[in-house]
Amino acid sequence: MTPRIPFARTEIVPAAQQAALDVLRSGWITTGPQTASFERELAGHLGVRHAVAVSSGTAALELSLRALRLPAGAAVLTPALTFCGAVQAILHAGLRPVLVDVGPEALQPDPAAVTAATRRVGAVAAMVVQHMAGFPAPVADLAAAAGLPLARVVEDAAHGLGAGRAGVPVGRSVGASCLSFYATKNLPIGEGGAVCTDDGELAADVRASRLHGMSRDAWRRYLPGGSWRYDVDRAGMKANFTDVQAAIGRAQLAELPRWQGRRAELADRYDAGLAGVPGLTRPVRPVDGWPAWHLYQVRVGTAYGRTRDALIDALAERGIGTSVHFIPVHRLSYFRRVLSPLERGDLPVTDAACTQLLSLPMHPALSDAEVDQVCQAVAELAAVRRRPARTPVQEGDRDVHPVPASVPAPS
Ligand SMILES: *Cc1c(COP(=O)(O)O)cnc(C)c1O
Repeated sequence: MTPRIPFARTEIVPAAQQAALDVLRSGWITTGPQTASFERELAGHLGVRHAVAVSSGTAALELSLRALRLPAGAAVLTPALTFCGAVQAILHAGLRPVLVDVGPEALQPDPAAVTAATRRVGAVAAMVVQHMAGFPAPVADLAAAAGLPLARVVEDAAHGLGAGRAGVPVGRSVGASCLSFYATKNLPIGEGGAVCTDDGELAADVRASRLHGMSRDAWRRYLPGGSWRYDVDRAGMKANFTDVQAAIGRAQLAELPRWQGRRAELADRYDAGLAGVPGLTRPVRPVDGWPAWHLYQVRVGTAYGRTRDALIDALAERGIGTSVHFIPVHRLSYFRRVLSPLERGDLPVTDAACTQLLSLPMHPALSDAEVDQVCQAVAELAAVRRRPARTPVQEGDRDVHPVPASVPAPS
């Protein structure tokens, strides 16, 4: 059954539908002029020199890591609390993922956790930084903690489009910043991704590698005066972007500022509607930045009186869709098999937090009334009576660590 209030809805605006149809009728479907325009417009939107569109966010990560030309098996830091595809990309690139715990404050690694993971394996060659839920990570601080130059940081910005820190938008990157245009992301195309960078060499490498390492793509070969000749001068994969995707993306990009504004309104409404619900931790806003609000992610602490899993089921019964970001990678059987104890390390904060994480419905088409219904359901389902609103105290904060004895057991 489709939930009455789904976790996400993909909106492809009428202009994007029309643009896709125009491309389908144009006789040129794959990577071509629309892709070039989309890349230019996306780079302009972010204020970054280069954007290279690829088939997915995962491909963007793999191509960015390959472009670093690291020795086979070199160690790459990644949060343990991330999307599985981001760690598959490290493995596909022939590198060795080293998991980092989250810090006690945010749901992403902090400098202390990065330093601890780096020390554990001796030294690392690169780092993947994820902007969890759309909260901008302190990239420069994390790079310094790992002893890495910014050029060795690959940003997993799948959640980060629309966020920024210290006045700089996520996506404007010294190293590589990887976006996803998957159906639920902030700029939905359906599928697709991009590598954004100020580094011209890196951009040129990703541009060639996304299409078999060929020196000239088909569009350029068929242009007037183009030649059938090409070389393959590097390793490559088949990860190019189509003009159908690009046409949709260009029209969707025009909506992004409005959609981001709406996400921020919805987050404010959730914050107000969930204030005072016992045991529920709302997102802690960044001091020096703005979130993309890709997710509205809460933590269901013991004081809520019902487990996160039980709350998911109870909300589903009321027709409210939710999601979990993420099952940490060390709890997935494949990664348990392939990661050595040294690569995995101890992840106490991630282990304590991951059973409490819950992502509530968040998408620009969500109405105020729907947010109110979700908040009311979450408040009613708390096994303990709601306290009067008393912001900005975050009720569940202490539940990240072992539960205090005074907290009532879940019923
Ligand atoms: C969606 C997502 C990806 C992968 O993007 P795809 O376009 O689906 O390949 C990577 N990392 C994170 C954090 C994501 O949420």
